[in-house]
Amino acid sequence: MGIADIKATTVAVPLEAPLRHGAGAHWGRFVRTVVEVIDDEGRSGFGELGGGGESAEAAVLALLPYLKGHDPLQLEQMRWKIMGPTASLYNNRMQLHAAIEMACIDLAGKRLGIRACDLLGGSIRDEVEFASYLFYRYEQDGRGGETSPAEIVDHARDLKQKHGFRVHKLKGGHFEPDRDIEVMFALAEAFPEDRLRLDPNAVWSVEQSIRVAKAIESLNNDYFEDPTWGLEGMRRVREAINIPTATNTVVVNFEQLAQSILHNCVDVVLLDTTFWGGLRQAHKAGTVLETFQYSAAVHSSGELGIQLASMLHLGAALPNLNFAADAHYHHLTDDILVGGKLPYVDGKIAVPTGPGLGVEVDRDKLARYAEYFKEVGGYPYDRDPARPDWYSIIPEFRYADPKVKAMPHTEGGQG
Ligand code: MG
Repeated sequence: MGIADIKATTVAVPLEAPLRHGAGAHWGRFVRTVVEVIDDEGRSGFGELGGGGESAEAAVLALLPYLKGHDPLQLEQMRWKIMGPTASLYNNRMQLHAAIEMACIDLAGKRLGIRACDLLGGSIRDEVEFASYLFYRYEQDGRGGETSPAEIVDHARDLKQKHGFRVHKLKGGHFEPDRDIEVMFALAEAFPEDRLRLDPNAVWSVEQSIRVAKAIESLNNDYFEDPTWGLEGMRRVREAINIPTATNTVVVNFEQLAQSILHNCVDVVLLDTTFWGGLRQAHKAGTVLETFQYSAAVHSSGELGIQLASMLHLGAALPNLNFAADAHYHHLTDDILVGGKLPYVDGKIAVPTGPGLGVEVDRDKLARYAEYFKEVGGYPYDRDPARPDWYSIIPEFRYADPKVKAMPHTEGGQG
């Protein structure tokens, strides 16, 4: 039973409103490439990676000669074929491998009648808790437009009411640091029982990071995520503050993981099922962290339901998942799954119980959102449409204007 074919389809799925962050913005949609791996018995498994378009699809399809006839259960061999050191030197295939591995795990699970997490050793929890993931948003069709502490609190209250979140994560770094400090205090006052986290996407200097950490250290903080750039920067911040630190930017491979553990650079590592090269690699990193008594968390890179399912299986299997996971998922207006979006109940999403990833792709929706992608195109996530001449250059960082509520009408970018 080997792989017979691969398909790659780029889709765009609308967001409730564009999401602003320190390095740019998500322009009102997520663009993802859905990868389908088909075996020689006609069974399909699905994976997902960020971005899309003709070149992304071609990069996926170019791996078919490596995979034709390969048994989808032989995942370690596949890792060496696609992501071995020589291949990685000339072609960074990390995320391509992640999507194909996700699809193979889905396929293998369906063949064996077991869940993806069972291929990782089984589940120790049957639901995963998530944080609210609050963004300053551009206004779109009467939704979004939050820039002030009161508006962010209203947005958090709405999300808490709809989904039951008890942990709130602010995507900061877009405005001056004092604005983020004010928002954190406003959230703490509005939700005294809930936990908080702040993530400015590494746009602050070590000294700014220490100043912000000291300002918010009395709050009910889970952790301070990527305040500054670099393992050494994170180590210096960690030594000076009283809040645990977290990262999804400076520990994204095993070399960095070793350095971080050797030198105590970061407390909590957010594991991403695409950034790390796949569900198995993210799980492996989690078990290394467990050995050294570090906590893991689950990172979100702007997923649709296929990747969300992989995050749920990762969360189900990680013994040291001591924090709520992240997801952008509730910012989407729809999903490409049969039955629509997976529901949050009391801030948690149930780990799918069906074989493989346990979610079913709705082929009509896949076709509809592939058409939508052709209409609207991609966008460069590291550009901010309301600041066309702006680039994120650190340390010459310039903050956005909080008076700007909506983004101008823009044509789609690329990728
Ligand atoms: Mg982050």
